[in-house]
Amino acid sequence: MNNPDLLRRSLAAVWHPCTQMKQHAGGGLPMIPIARGQGAWLYDFDGRRYLDGISSWWVNLFGHANPRINAALAAQLGELEHVILAGFTQRPVVELSERLSALTGHALGHCFYASDGASATEIALKMSFHGWRNRGRERKRNFLCLEGGYHGETVGALAVTDVAIFRDAYAPLVRAAATVPTPDARDARDGETPADIARRAARALERHLDEHHESIAAFIVEPLIQCASGMAMYDPEYLRLARALCDRYEVHLICDEIAVGCGRSGTFFAHEQADIKPDFLCLSKGISGGYLPLSVVLTTDAVFEAFYDDATARGFLHSHSYTGNALACRAALAVLDIFAEDRVIEQNRSRAQKLADALAPLSAHPNVRHPRSRGMIAAFDVATADPNFQRRFYRAALERETLTRPIGNTVYLMPPYIVDDEEIAHLGRAVAAALDAALAG
Ligand SMILES: *Cc1c(COP(=O)(O)O)cnc(C)c1O
Repeated sequence: MNNPDLLRRSLAAVWHPCTQMKQHAGGGLPMIPIARGQGAWLYDFDGRRYLDGISSWWVNLFGHANPRINAALAAQLGELEHVILAGFTQRPVVELSERLSALTGHALGHCFYASDGASATEIALKMSFHGWRNRGRERKRNFLCLEGGYHGETVGALAVTDVAIFRDAYAPLVRAAATVPTPDARDARDGETPADIARRAARALERHLDEHHESIAAFIVEPLIQCASGMAMYDPEYLRLARALCDRYEVHLICDEIAVGCGRSGTFFAHEQADIKPDFLCLSKGISGGYLPLSVVLTTDAVFEAFYDDATARGFLHSHSYTGNALACRAALAVLDIFAEDRVIEQNRSRAQKLADALAPLSAHPNVRHPRSRGMIAAFDVATADPNFQRRFYRAALERETLTRPIGNTVYLMPPYIVDDEEIAHLGRAVAAALDAALAG
């Protein structure tokens, strides 16, 4: 099957995600059929290649066709692909739960599984509400989120997602949560440091909780980096203060680490950098190395015990068909093995520095604002009035063998953790050249 054929059939039969399909008509926006992947590279049918600068929507950690994950999955296929997780259990799900719990220092020792990030958000929200209700705190039925926060796009998850392009069209369906100001470090008023901004945002949180805590079940945050609204980065001080306020006002703290977990922020979990523990921790995306859909919500003994009872209805009866899928859990175990065997968190320190360095020359570019990085994410904003900048940049980078996906005028790199020096240099060159090409129009 050649490229044009697959392209035509895809546009006819596949409704692509997060896409205005008409933009692909007549070759406007490219649609690229991929034949295979190897390491950080994707190859089409004509031998063209693209460096995966966004880890295929932030999921791929150790490259495409990773031999170790492949081998683990092949072995698992010979034993068990899947079994119902109600009334049955299996080795991969037990081992994964134990190892994730150990990674939280056993503070979050109970793992509940689903298949995607939005479902993990919904599980955390439902569990928080239901846990309070089981303890007789019926009034705690509202949620609180950050301005610019993103927690998924199902109708329930949209309630705590504050990104207009995803939420506005469905506003009539959504029971929107209240928002409090983001600690986004770009919002400095005269002379403020990122920690000052964090303290200012925490004071707003305190005022909100002081007034409304009796009706609030949980506060949900993306620790350190609000990825989907444009890689907004903030100081860990905010998480420390938020944790203390949630304790004081008896509100659960949900850390949505679906994007920033699994090493992306520089530590295995982003919340470690604030030296706190959440009441709920949501993981997905990188957890299976980008192989299979898997998400998990970890929580504490205290929450678990609120459901442990003779009455069925006091249990958490939420269910998904593929919950705890053995293949997906096996992929996740292979990912955790790679983290341990290759000392990935340690190795990524110099890799992250090189990634930041690759974009550093652009700080002097007249259109570049707020260059920033944390862990394996590097980003900057582009000052331009061109409403088509995003698409122009995307296309210009593809022409330079590089997959990026700017968010509005924010350009970022979020590559797999296996990119080598030459690949990082390639990313830096491609971004610089694509920026100038896109701005030239
Ligand atoms: C991607 C993402 C989600 C949603 O995950 P899906 O698997 O796309 O439903 C939720 N929260 C955060 C922080 C994310 O980045």
